[in-house]
Amino acid sequence: MIKRLISLLVIYTLLLACNGNDILGGSNGVPAVGNVDSEITEQDAEGQDFNLKTPGFGIQVAIRSDVDGNTGDMLNLLDERAADFLQCQFGNSQVGSQEFQIPSGETIPPLSALRVFVVPFTFKCNTVEAANADCGGIFFPDSDLIIISKESLGRCGEFPLFKHELGHRYGMALDHSNISEFQSCIQPPDCI
Ligand SMILES: [Zn+2]
Repeated sequence: MIKRLISLLVIYTLLLACNGNDILGGSNGVPAVGNVDSEITEQDAEGQDFNLKTPGFGIQVAIRSDVDGNTGDMLNLLDERAADFLQCQFGNSQVGSQEFQIPSGETIPPLSALRVFVVPFTFKCNTVEAANADCGGIFFPDSDLIIISKESLGRCGEFPLFKHELGHRYGMALDHSNISEFQSCIQPPDCI
């Protein structure tokens, strides 16, 4: 019974974590932000002009023209979230500035090799787990590219899924089979 409860909890957390989907939309005082955008594919993202760079790690960024907000603030926030995640997960945020060997033995390129496409809100995407999912973010390992929504349905704060997607870049399996090793460092921002 307990086992079943735990696995249900895990599944529920996974759904929330990856898709930031509308299960929670409007409940718990969390505003349902925006709509669900149509599908954004890896190819759509690769076609962007990544002409922005975060000041710290030099992450290559493209911000879709309909995203609200100050560009400098957004770039700083992406750096900040990345530093927080790396510090929490590996005890050293500077591993993002160089090639870094994760515990599995795989070598991860510096964050300056990562491309991030910022979109305004939750969008449709195809993940290894579900077609036509509602996504707040997705990581494509082959192109070292993240699509991230600035705001997500059922989530608080900006870029709530960015640490989650970085988790994928730094060793979290796309099917989330090892999410427990990352869970404490990929939490979305708290609702205030
Ligand atoms: Zn995920």
